[in-house]
Order: sequence, then structure tokens, then C-alpha cells
Amino acid sequence: EAKNEGKNLFKLFDETIRSSLMRRTEIGAKLADAVFNDDIRAVLQPKLCLATGKFMGFEALGRWRLGGEEISPLEFIPIAEKIGLIRKIDIAVLHKAAEFVVREEAATGLKVPLSTNISALNFRAAGLAEAIQDVLWQTKLEPDRLTLELTETVAVENWNAVQEVLSILRPMGVRASLDDFGTGHSSLSYLRRFKFEEIKIDRSFIRDIEEDKETRFLFESIVDMAIGLGSTLVVEGIETSRQASIVSEKGAHIGQGFFFSRPLELTEAKSYLQSKNLGAAQR
Ligand code: C2E
Ligand code: MG
Ligand code: MG
Ligand code: MG
Repeated sequence: EAKNEGKNLFKLFDETIRSSLMRRTEIGAKLADAVFNDDIRAVLQPKLCLATGKFMGFEALGRWRLGGEEISPLEFIPIAEKIGLIRKIDIAVLHKAAEFVVREEAATGLKVPLSTNISALNFRAAGLAEAIQDVLWQTKLEPDRLTLELTETVAVENWNAVQEVLSILRPMGVRASLDDFGTGHSSLSYLRRFKFEEIKIDRSFIRDIEEDKETRFLFESIVDMAIGLGSTLVVEGIETSRQASIVSEKGAHIGQGFFFSRPLELTEAKSYLQSKNLGAAQR
């Protein structure tokens, strides 16, 4: 009996693995088509100065719709990494977002700063700096308007490659941002050596900040540390006005989250820029 149970359990396990493998294979094939057809979209989420409410720029995020269903980047990015599509996707998202902010500059006169996410695998393959430079040249985005977001794991596990890429791009004015800070296996010693222009504290720290004293204390220490290191501290995942005022009070610089705005399709981002009196968007 126990043996049968084990067998059934194994069968269930086996089927679960098989169907998730099948989904990944299917998604991978469709994703390759989507990349080939240039179907990956960029959406833009506003970043705001917590003290003044001033618009500080957009973060570009990749989006992909498959047969009417929006597939989360949390699902398609790891697949793209596995099947060698991540360079094309990250560069396409950057390209579309850069094209957009440059086009809007002509219409509004605003030099909107732009952040984009760069996967670890992009640092492991040659030619990342050149690919980014190509986008800058093709779109005419000034390099000092671009920030590259990388996660802690990327920074720690690809130390040399990251240094090499940044040593090419930084002199042009491109900035580096440490994304999802607090979730990886870093890091304090790395932080000192890396000198990120920006640190983005992960949403998990903010979620409990209203109720949990310890979270608040931890948050405060991270703010102090970021300021001490001379980095701009961005808080992501702000969903309530209360969270916004707590993190603002503690001295964080920039906020991003559904409370301010969800990520916007380019047409929405266009009206966002027009509707707000964004007079002096600058860093
Ligand atoms: P991330 O870079 O940390 O981006 C922030 C994520 O949090 C986004 O999810 C955004 O939609 C979400 N978010 C923003 N504000 C809130 C909020 O107030 N509450 C909640 N619950 N969520 C909020 P998204 O777009 O699903 O992306 C997830 C992750 O996938 C990103 O995390 C990033 O690591 C990765 N990603 C997305 N687009 C790209 C891309 O083009 N290239 C690469 N390499 N990675 C990407
Ligand atoms: Mg990010
Ligand atoms: Mg993040
Ligand atoms: Mg995050």
C-alpha cells in the first residue's frame, strides 16, 4: 500500500514536471517567434522624488502577450536566459524605451531619465557594452540619461564582467543601479567595492513596514548605508500613501510603486508626461 502511494506520488510528480517542461518548451518556441517578430513590448513605470513628488524618470519593463494572455517576465525572462534570447530581449526593451523618451523629448522638451534591467547572462556573453552603445547611437539617447539595473546576484557572481562593462559605459555617463537589494546573497563588502550610483531596496522590505518594527529598523539602516555610500536610494513596491510617507520620513530619495503608478504602456506614458506638469524632470 505504502509502495503504491509512493508510486502514485511519483507519477503525479512526474506529470507535474512533464507538464511544466512542456509549457517551458512551448513558451520557449513562441518566445523565439515573438523576438523574431519584434513582439516584446516595453512598459514604463514612473519613479518619483519622495520629498517633492517630482517625476524622476521611468523604469522600462519587458512585456509579452501570447494569444491574449500576458506572460509575466518572471516566467519568460528565465526561459529567455535558458535558450539564448535574453540579449535580444533586454536590448529590444531598452531600444523601444529609449526611442520613446527621445521622441517625447521632441514633443515636450523633457529629458526623461531611463532605467532598464540587464540580466546576468548578458554580462557573461561578450559585447554587452557595444550592444548598449549601439542603442544609444541609434536612438540618440544621451548616455547620462541611462541607468542599468542589475540584481545583487549578477553583481556578485559576475564581478569581473560587470566591472569591465561598466568601465566602458561609466565614462560615457551611464549609471549602475543595484536592483532588489536585500534579497540576494551579497554583499556589504561588495557594495563598498562596486559603488553603485543607485540602490533599489526590494519590495519585501516595504510590505511589512507599517506593522513591523524590525522591518522599519532594518529599512532605516539600509537608508543610512545607501546615503553613507553616496548612492541614491530607490524604494520599489510602494502601494499605500502610508508606506510612501514612512519611507520618505526615513530619508529614502525616490519611490516607485502602484501607489504612484503601475507600469504604463507607451501610449499611457505619453499622456502621463503630457498631463503632469513635469517642468523640470531631471536628476
Ligand atoms: P524589477 O526590476 O524589480 O521590477 C519591479 C517589478 O515590481 C515589476 O514587475 C513591477 O511591475 C513590479 N511592481 C512595481 N511596483 C509595484 C507595487 O507597488 N507592487 C507590486 N506588487 N509590484 C510592483 P514585473 O514587470 O513583473 O517584472 C518582474 C521582474 O522581471 C523585474 O523586477 C525584473 O527583474 C524582471 N524583468 C522585467 N522586465 C525585464 C527585462 O526587460 N529584462 C530583464 N532582464 N528583466 C526584466
Ligand atoms: Mg528593475
Ligand atoms: Mg527591483
Ligand atoms: Mg524587485
